[in-house]
Amino acid sequence: MVGIDRNSDDSSLNARAGPPVAPPLPGPPMTKWARKGVPQGADCCVSTTAIDLWDRLFDEGYKADVRIHTDDGGVVYAHAWIVSMASPVMKGMLKKSKRKGRYQVLSIGGVPHDAVRVFVRFLYSSRYQNQDMAEFIVPLLVLSHSFMVPRLKQICEQQLEQGLLNMENVIDIFQLALLCDAPRLGFISHRMIVKNFKDVSATEGWAAMKQSFPLLEKELLECVIEEDNRTKERIRRKNERKIYLQLYEAMEALVHICRDGCQTIGPHDKVFKKDQPPCSFEACKGLELLIRHFAGCKLRVPGGCIHCKRMWQLLELHSRLCADSNVCRVPLCRNFKDRIKKQNKKDETKWRILARKILRTKTIGVAPFFTSACGC
Ligand SMILES: [Zn+2]
Ligand SMILES: [Zn+2]
Ligand SMILES: [Zn+2]
Repeated sequence: MVGIDRNSDDSSLNARAGPPVAPPLPGPPMTKWARKGVPQGADCCVSTTAIDLWDRLFDEGYKADVRIHTDDGGVVYAHAWIVSMASPVMKGMLKKSKRKGRYQVLSIGGVPHDAVRVFVRFLYSSRYQNQDMAEFIVPLLVLSHSFMVPRLKQICEQQLEQGLLNMENVIDIFQLALLCDAPRLGFISHRMIVKNFKDVSATEGWAAMKQSFPLLEKELLECVIEEDNRTKERIRRKNERKIYLQLYEAMEALVHICRDGCQTIGPHDKVFKKDQPPCSFEACKGLELLIRHFAGCKLRVPGGCIHCKRMWQLLELHSRLCADSNVCRVPLCRNFKDRIKKQNKKDETKWRILARKILRTKTIGVAPFFTSACGC
């Protein structure tokens, strides 16, 4: 016998105790500032005093050298070096801008004056009021994309996803997401439109899109129809599964009645005790009534009474699922097996598909219940 030196190979013992520990994730790339020891990212703390200072600089416009004209005759004052650092597009615009006295002049049109203010403030301090974000989410998304301010764009997308996207603005946001290269937002708005088509199609946004982009409307309508068909198909499958499950349960109950007997019905050699506990097979009650009817019905021929016809079908179905007819106690099991051999191919395929679907309902390869139909 080979002895184990417990101290000789610690690593092999650890390996037996569980999977090896994953190596640590690679850290952030070293920037030249990080190499110089300047604190970066999560290690870096910014006091609110500093942010307040940047806000004040914007609010007071101290030594501002840029005038941004807005649509409604308003002006926002800014500092060229700050807005240039925060937005490469702004930098490019400033290079080409005209100078009037000490000011370089820009204009930002197509969005409300207050939205431009909120935007420029963000360039200074990355700060915004929730109320402003809710009011100007659409223009802020446009501005952040047009002026290449990714952090603001990301915030706009997050805010929309977390509640600002609604029935009224979803059509506008969807179109913007396509124009502003925001695939996730596009996907979320698309899903909202398709799921709430009735409400969304009644909005002004939808009417405006219908006029300006009829092709987009057509595409959305096609998606709505597709989704509708998918829902119908899901419901159909669900109902179908329910029927197969009921059939499976009926098959279980049939074997149980013929093998063990249930309450007062069962094999002729079974002695029924009084005060039996209630049966655990849900389908038993209905099946018991059907069997009693079948035993007494005068029209007991295939194609006759609908109840008897159902009983014939259940008996045939059982026979197709039954593993061993020689020992099975279900009536006519063997007769059906013999008849099946003579059946034409088309009928045979139909029954085989039905049997397979019933067994699949219970997500089992072979139904163990039917292999024990003999009771031995
Ligand atoms: Zn029962
Ligand atoms: Zn009948
Ligand atoms: Zn059988």
